[in-house]
Amino acid sequence: MNILILGSGGREHTIAWKIAQSAKCKHLFVAPGNSGTSEIATNVPLSVTDFGAIKDVVLKNDIKMVIVGPEDPLVLGVHDFFLADAQLKNVAVIGPQKAAAELEGSKEFAKKFLFRHNIPTAAYQSFDATTVEAGCDFLETLKPPYVLKADGLAAGKGVLILKDLEEAKTELKAMLVDAKFGTASTKVVIEEFLDGIELSCFVLTDGKNYKILPTAKDYKRIGEGDTGLNTGGMGAISPVPFADNEFMSKIKERVVIPTINGLQKDNLPYKGFVFIGLIKVGNDPFVIEYNVRLGDPETEVVLPRLKNDLVEVFQAVASQTLNDITIDIDDRAATTVMLVSGGYPEAYEKGKEITGLENIEGSLVFHAGANLKEGKVVTSGGRVMAVTSFGKTYQEAIKKSYQNIDKLHFDKMNYRKDIGFDL
Ligand code: AMP
Repeated sequence: MNILILGSGGREHTIAWKIAQSAKCKHLFVAPGNSGTSEIATNVPLSVTDFGAIKDVVLKNDIKMVIVGPEDPLVLGVHDFFLADAQLKNVAVIGPQKAAAELEGSKEFAKKFLFRHNIPTAAYQSFDATTVEAGCDFLETLKPPYVLKADGLAAGKGVLILKDLEEAKTELKAMLVDAKFGTASTKVVIEEFLDGIELSCFVLTDGKNYKILPTAKDYKRIGEGDTGLNTGGMGAISPVPFADNEFMSKIKERVVIPTINGLQKDNLPYKGFVFIGLIKVGNDPFVIEYNVRLGDPETEVVLPRLKNDLVEVFQAVASQTLNDITIDIDDRAATTVMLVSGGYPEAYEKGKEITGLENIEGSLVFHAGANLKEGKVVTSGGRVMAVTSFGKTYQEAIKKSYQNIDKLHFDKMNYRKDIGFDL
């Protein structure tokens, strides 16, 4: 069948790389895609939130499956758009419907869901512009640091963690009254700070059945030792060494099963990935967030470890027969290191030629902010490409990634040299 992937990052290149290996995929399209996807698929220029343009591409190319990479089209209801259209309703869409995508679209919605289904998470209250003073009073009852979350989508920037009470009050007002994050901060969730180590658990569900995929840990800060500004992610490791069998069974019993049951009880139609952001406090898992799609750069370590034919797995999601599938995971560890433009996550230059790609041996290179220009691969974003390697241990894998990174070059290239330092 013909398949369309929506998105343009390292995540989408990885999904495309995996789908392109399936004999069930006849022609693969990625919209808008990047230089990496152009090597294995047909790139189609469009905006992933322009549903009319997506419909045209699907009909013109006889596409039978659409895999949604980023969250925005899901939160805006791309799956519902397909179901409501007579010409599109038989196309399989991988990604939840709008009502369920609210798990990522609204922090308050997610907190209510977690509490309703008794899933461990931090205590919280939410506030709007009419209850700023109550919000300040609530902050006074908490211990520092203070966690303030813009309710809506804020491109990963809407969470503030502040040590000082007065600063927390000022920021709360800036979010609610001065619209610091635009309409995303019309409401703010204030929650108790959880002190622990983070990991992510990926689950694929067809709305009835589920499969737990490998865990991963990502490195969000720009600087070594997890310092400096937050980024989209500088690297990742899978599996997470401290997520042993005992801890994984706690995640399954306390988090995954109640989440899947909760979706059904609440009538939230879900065919796609659930990305559960967790924090290990003592020996117990707590949920810090849900995302309704795969993460980037976690995808670059999770999908290469999946041995199954991904098209077959997605067909089972679409037909709600996921229980008939046995998920087969590569035992080896996978690591990825993200190469970024100098200056990122603040201002940076684009259009730098990337050289050395032909010299890579024994690693996979997934393009993110990279595009073709006059036959050359050039930088087009902050996060440029992810170098993924396998190894018996994550230490062996990471060494391989760094050896291959030495062969790559672009002006002002930057990357973290300490991925996995805390494990
Ligand atoms: P979120 O977008 O909800 O994942 O939050 C972004 C980041 O803030 C997370 O990856 C955590 O590092 C941190 N964070 C969020 N909530 C908490 C919390 N309750 N306690 C400690 N850290 C948190």
